[in-house]
Amino acid sequence: MSAAVFRGLFGHDPEGEWAAPGRVNLIGEHTDYNDGFSLPIALEQTVRAWVRRRDDGLLRLASTRTPGRVVELDVAALAPGGAEGWAAYPAGVVWTLRRAGHAVGGADVLIDSDVPAGAGLSSSAALECAVATAYADLHGLGLEPGELALLAQRAENEFVGVPCGVMDQMASMCCRAGSALHLDARDLATRDIPFDPAAAGLVLLVVDTRVHHDLGDGAYAALRAGCERAAALLGLPALRDLAPAGLDAALGRLPAELRPLVRHVVTEDERVRQAVDLLEKDPAALGPILTAGHASLRDDYRVSCPETDLAVASAVAAGALGARMTGGGFGGSVVVLVEQGAAAEVADAVTAAFAAAGHTAPEIHTATPSRGAHRVR
Ligand code: ADP
Ligand code: MG
Repeated sequence: MSAAVFRGLFGHDPEGEWAAPGRVNLIGEHTDYNDGFSLPIALEQTVRAWVRRRDDGLLRLASTRTPGRVVELDVAALAPGGAEGWAAYPAGVVWTLRRAGHAVGGADVLIDSDVPAGAGLSSSAALECAVATAYADLHGLGLEPGELALLAQRAENEFVGVPCGVMDQMASMCCRAGSALHLDARDLATRDIPFDPAAAGLVLLVVDTRVHHDLGDGAYAALRAGCERAAALLGLPALRDLAPAGLDAALGRLPAELRPLVRHVVTEDERVRQAVDLLEKDPAALGPILTAGHASLRDDYRVSCPETDLAVASAVAAGALGARMTGGGFGGSVVVLVEQGAAAEVADAVTAAFAAAGHTAPEIHTATPSRGAHRVR
């Protein structure tokens, strides 16, 4: 379908089509920029990029979200702040590739996506990773998925100006179908942890609360700076280096406003360890870990909102095994682990709770652990 849209916009065929998925993080939130651990799965929903290289140095960008519009940029003149709106993500990828010394130039790029934007499912990383994978493939750059993830993160940090950690890009690049990805953000070591909810009689629901966050608003940067300040005061390279056994003593040495941040990060890393131990043996046992993770994000890290809190509370009250917000917070999505037989009832209960509270109706989907970025054709 979109190959025809590409022809209509650019007057020739794309050289290929690439896809990169959105993600749901099962547990391990706000840990990546503390050099810690996380456990995302890739979604079936992807951002797709149709790409054809150009030899005149122009980068021409179109998205099916803005029909008929083409953003045209001069690759040699790319600089942070030099691309408006969504075009900054793909332009940032081309900019970082060039800064890393790769001889890449312009292209015609069409984007289509079924990852909802701003819903905490990481459409931004999927967009970066789809374009990065296309460029790496077309130019034969020979980069590993982890290297591309780092470049995509740098594009978002330095070109778009969002100080995100690396988990989203690693998930979009490196996840495998039928597995969760255990990520150590310090050295980007990954391990595939087999996870097939259906085979275990379980369903993962993703509840998009329709409250769309804006991580560029400074709240995320402030949290990140608070964590870095706490680590410095404790004389540690990062909060990941604080063992749970030393937590209470460490909290006593910190100013009151930093204590809840540190408590969240240290207990969250511990929850990832527990979840990894349980995922293969007894995935249903993950439920209480998810709910405990949400309480920590709500009460200590303070990044939840009334809608995500309500989704979690109403899902658990209706019989879900556990639930938590996923992604950076301030809205976005909630992941719910539920037994197959109870999934419809839990989804209905969440929808009813939103209606009773006067919130916009949530969108609820089932998530299946899917593959990372790849060439489609
Ligand atoms: P999230 O990553 O949680 O979806 P972000 O705010 O990080 O939220 O990224 C959302 C942004 O990504 C959008 O505002 C838009 O700029 C860009 N984006 C995502 N999907 C598309 C798309 N299909 N077409 C154009 N831009 C997109
Ligand atoms: Mg994002």
